[in-house]
Amino acid sequence: MIRVALLGATGSIGSAALDLAGAYRDRIRIVSLAARSNDAALTRAADELGVRRIALVDAEAARRARDRWKNGEVLEGESALTALAEDGEADVVINAVVGSIGLKPTVSALSRGKRVALANKESVVLAGELLTAVAKRSGGMMIPVDSEHSGVFQCLAGRPVSDVRRVTLTASGGPFLRRDPRTTLDSTPEEVLKHPTWSMGERITVDCATLVNKGFEVIEARWLFDLPPDRVDVVIHPQSIVHALVEFVDGSIVAQLSVPDMRLPLLFALSYPERWTSELPRLGVADLATLTFEPPDPDRCPGLALARRALTAGGTAPAVLNAADEEAVRLFLDRKIRFGDLMPLVEEVLTAHRPEGPLTLESILEADRWARGRLHEAAAHMTRG
Ligand code: NAD
Ligand code: MG
Repeated sequence: MIRVALLGATGSIGSAALDLAGAYRDRIRIVSLAARSNDAALTRAADELGVRRIALVDAEAARRARDRWKNGEVLEGESALTALAEDGEADVVINAVVGSIGLKPTVSALSRGKRVALANKESVVLAGELLTAVAKRSGGMMIPVDSEHSGVFQCLAGRPVSDVRRVTLTASGGPFLRRDPRTTLDSTPEEVLKHPTWSMGERITVDCATLVNKGFEVIEARWLFDLPPDRVDVVIHPQSIVHALVEFVDGSIVAQLSVPDMRLPLLFALSYPERWTSELPRLGVADLATLTFEPPDPDRCPGLALARRALTAGGTAPAVLNAADEEAVRLFLDRKIRFGDLMPLVEEVLTAHRPEGPLTLESILEADRWARGRLHEAAAHMTRG
C-alpha cells in the first residue's frame, strides 16, 4: 500500500490521479489533498476517498471549507503545500499543481527522501540542477509524469546515459500545426484551447500552441536524465501515440507507445518498478498504420527556440522564461494581449534578464518575481503603444 499526498487535486492531472486512487483502493491510499481555491471539489474528493487532511492555498476558500466540512483538518496558504509534501504520513507526493508554486513542495518532498511523481514540470524547468542534487543527497526520486519523459524513463529502463546517443521527444504540434503562423496572431483563447489530442489544463494547452511546452520539456529532459541539450531532439508527431524514442549507442532505437491518456504515465510513476494490471484504454496494432513524424518548422515553434536559448544561458534564465510565460498566458486568457504577442513579450523579458550570483532556491524565486513584473511592464507598454 503506498500512501500518497496529492497536490493539485482539482486539475486535469489531479482528476486522473483521483481516478486511479479509486480504481486501486487496495494499492493506493491518498492521505492528503491540496488545491488552490476549489473547496467544493476538494472536499467532495476527500469524502469519496476518506481523506482527512486537505489544504487550500486560497485563505477564503479554506475558510469556506472549514465552515462546511467537518470530516477532517483544513490547512491554508502556500506553506500548506510544503507541509503536506513533507508530512511523514505520505511516502509519495504527486505534484500536479501548475506553475512555479510547485517548486518548494518538490524540494521538500525530495529532501525527505520521498518519491515525487512529478507532473509539475515547472519544478525541473526552474531548478533542475538543484533538484537532482537534493535527490542525490537524500535518496529521494523524481519519477516523471509528463508523458514524453515517462516514455524516456521507460525506454531507458535503467541504462546509463553513456549508453544513449539521442533522445527524441514527440510533439503533437498543437492546434495550429497546419496553419500559416501569420493567420493565428489574433486567435482567441477558445481556438487555442482546442488541443487536437490531449485534454489538459489551460496553461499547458496554450503552451502547446506556442510550442514553449515542448521547450520546457527539452529542459526537463536535460535535467531528469542528465543529457546534454544537443542530444535532446523534438519531432512533430500529430497522433500523440509515440511519446519518446531513445537511440542507444549501438544504433538500436527503443520507443514508448500508448494511447494519449495521462493516467498511464501517472500509474507508472506510482507502480514503478512494478507494473500493475490496468483497465485503461489500449492501443491496437492497427492504430499504428497512420503514424507520421516530421521535423518541427522553426517559424511555427517560437517557444522551442526560446527554451533552447534559456537552457544555453543557464542559471535563472529558464525560471525567467517560465514566469514570463505564466504571466503572458494569463494575460492572453484574460484577453488583455493577442496570441501573437505571447512569445514576443516573453522573449523581451528573457532578453532583458541579467543572471547574477550563484544559483540558489532564493535567486531562482527572485528571478521568477522579477520576470513577472517585467512581463507586465512590457505588456502595458505594448498595449499603450
Ligand atoms: P490544471 O490547471 O488542470 O490544474 C492545476 C491544479 O493546480 C489545480 O488543482 C489547481 O487548484 C492547482 N493550482 C493552481 N494554482 C495553484 C496555486 N497557486 N496554489 C496551489 N495550487 C494551485 O493543470 P494540469 O493540466 O492538471 O497541469 C498540472 C501540471 O501538470 C502542470 O505543471 C502541467 O504542465 C503538468 N502536465 C499536465 C499534463 C496534462 O495532461 N494535463 C501533461 C503533462 C504535464
Ligand atoms: Mg508532455
